[in-house]
This record gives sequence, structure tokens and C-alpha cells, in this order.
Amino acid sequence: MNIPLHRLTSAQVKVWLMGGELQRQQAENLRRRYPGGVGVLSPTQCLFAYVRPDGSVQSLTPPFRRYLISEIANRPTLEQCPCAEYFDPESGGPWKLRARDGEHHPICQYKPTSMTVFNLLMRAHREENAKRPDDMRRAEERALGVRGEKTRVTLR
Ligand SMILES: [Zn+2]
Repeated sequence: MNIPLHRLTSAQVKVWLMGGELQRQQAENLRRRYPGGVGVLSPTQCLFAYVRPDGSVQSLTPPFRRYLISEIANRPTLEQCPCAEYFDPESGGPWKLRARDGEHHPICQYKPTSMTVFNLLMRAHREENAKRPDDMRRAEERALGVRGEKTRVTLR
């Protein structure tokens, strides 16, 4: 599939689901922005509809295919992205001071690789956790719980 993907905000999805004239207007706006047709994504990047080049809507049925944020057409530029403010030790300031050609931070969620790396780390963590005996895991969870209590007390 080679058509662009556009992610709606949750407010826009609510309007879309009202259907009728409101949905038709939204589809018309998308058609004007993407004349060759566009895939419509939910805020969680699930493709749930197409807007065809003639402005008509094709709704899809579950299971919806999910896309990475880096694959959507209306992903934010570096200026609009929180990663522009990430602390960068090499420049001693925010990432935007060192970023070249508007490139996002290496661990920014809008970078195609960051989700892959994150998932790998999560899997490694889960496998590691599964190897440990149950009583050790429970003791760790208790310890974490106690630490949580202390933090809450300090905040009050
Ligand atoms: Zn970013």
C-alpha cells in the first residue's frame, strides 16, 4: 500500500464516529490535503478507514492494522516534538541545538528504530524476570511498594 496515512486526534475520531455530514466534511478536508487518497488512523495508529480520491469513505472492520508513528504523514517536525527538549550531554543543552536537518533524537518515539529497540529491551527484561524464582520476584515487588510509600509520604 502506497498511500499516505493520517492520524486523527481523539477529538477528531469522536466527530468522525458521529458520521453523516460531519464525517463527510472531515473526509473532504482529508481528500483536499491528500488528493490521491489517504488511510485514516486512530490516535493509537490503527488504520480504520480509507478516504478515496473521490472523497468517499471506506470503513474497515477489525482487526485493525497498526502502524508506527514514523510511518504517518502528519507526524510532528522536530520543532513540534518533545524530543527537541531532551537533554543532550554533548552540547550541554537541549537536543535541538545539535540536531542536524531536523533529525529527531535517537530515542524519540517518532524514529522508526526506537520502538524496535524498546520492544527488544522489554522482551529481554520479561525473559530475565521469568527466570527468577517466584519468592524472589515477590520480595522485589514488596520492596518497590515500600519505596513507593516513602515517596508519597515525602510529597505530602
Ligand atoms: Zn522527536
